[in-house]
Amino acid sequence: MTTKEEWIAKDLKYVWHPDTQMKQYEGADFKPTLIERGEGIYLYDIDGNKYIDGVSSWWVNTLGHSNPKLNNILTQQAQKIEHVLLADFTHIPAIELAEKLVNLAGSPFSKVFYSDDGSTAVEVALKMAYQYWYQKGKPEKKYFVSMTDSYHGDTLGSVSVGGIDIYKKIFNPLVFETLKVCAPYCYRCPKNKECGKCNIECIDEVEALFKSRSSEIAAMIVEPLVQGAAGMRMYPPLYLSKLRALCDEYDILLIDDEVAMAFGRTGKYFAFEHANIKPDIFCVAKGITAGYIPLAATITTDKIYNAFYDDFSTLKTFYHGHSFTGNPVACAVAVENLKIMEEEKIIDSLQPKIEKLKQCLKKFKELQHVGDVRQTGMIGAVEMVRNKSTKEPYDFVERIGHKVFKEALKNGALLRPIGNVIYFMPPLIIKEEEIEKLTKIAYNAIKTVTEMN
Ligand code: PLP
Repeated sequence: MTTKEEWIAKDLKYVWHPDTQMKQYEGADFKPTLIERGEGIYLYDIDGNKYIDGVSSWWVNTLGHSNPKLNNILTQQAQKIEHVLLADFTHIPAIELAEKLVNLAGSPFSKVFYSDDGSTAVEVALKMAYQYWYQKGKPEKKYFVSMTDSYHGDTLGSVSVGGIDIYKKIFNPLVFETLKVCAPYCYRCPKNKECGKCNIECIDEVEALFKSRSSEIAAMIVEPLVQGAAGMRMYPPLYLSKLRALCDEYDILLIDDEVAMAFGRTGKYFAFEHANIKPDIFCVAKGITAGYIPLAATITTDKIYNAFYDDFSTLKTFYHGHSFTGNPVACAVAVENLKIMEEEKIIDSLQPKIEKLKQCLKKFKELQHVGDVRQTGMIGAVEMVRNKSTKEPYDFVERIGHKVFKEALKNGALLRPIGNVIYFMPPLIIKEEEIEKLTKIAYNAIKTVTEMN
């Protein structure tokens, strides 16, 4: 029988892990954790140790691992049809899912374009917006506006509208030019305002840019309410409503990248609901299949769709299609996911959990090296700093977050950090007592690591 050590040795021989400096595994003390199975909020390694999946395996899992209902649908659908192309052919799961998504999002949304993951959903949105203006006779509207420290995926189009150096800097010569506005990062407010006591002055910069260059701007793309990969940086819904008004005023499309936030993370199905707005185009992925299989969708309105609708000869077709567009197994799982969310009233069940998370987060503020504690719905984040009063951050290369992650892992929680930020984004089915357990492990790990360094 192959031992755990042999599997790990083979892993390191053949697998190049994502977002990972592989040299870190050279020593004997730290190796990838070999997961054998999952159940509910827990992951089990090959030795039977269990870990609370505190980050929903990169923000995808919503209804728990190895959910019996989803397992059942997945196998049933695979036995009927595992895949068929979606051009000139269709299938019931794709139709049902599109109808459900449009109904959930509400008017004026009317059309669903499938793809495979968050990055491709964003690529689709960008190309759709660009081609929309081209076909409306305004090809000069070709720039995209995005926020500093934004993240929209790892493909080159999505990297173009991204703003985080580690993902972008090297590729700057390859990506297309975009326009950047300062992100509303409330802990380190760009306008030096106190969090919660401002009039969203940071949006003035957006207005000034729109005013001077609206004739060249196709769209603004945002991560709604939370800049995830930047370190769960949060901003108020009012920013989004103001942005919607500005986009209307200056005839600029609003692309809402809900890849990380949709399907309950913020306490509602979609983050845009908090701001009472509707974007022109929005992207979903991750939680669409409850984290089971890759699937994504870019959802839009008749206003956009009609600009592509014409005789074949006018060449207005949207020529974009991935091999696995609208995969039947993925769509069937997504339909079942939405059915479970509705039947089991998952969104309604979140309020006491959100409240519990809020209570549990309070304690972190006492810690000597915790600068900011923030929460949006089912997402909690703790930003560690070297110096609390000056907000001096830890150096990136110190990997303080990673040290906390390793400590928490020893105690049964998967809390993979973003730089100096430890965050909680557990499956939505987590129980209140499990939130307590998860945050306690994190608290102790942060205390141990930061007060030792
Ligand atoms: N957009 C946002 C806001 C994300 O957080 C992510 C991934 O974390 C993506 C896009 C890219 O999604 P994927 O990793 O599925 O390509």
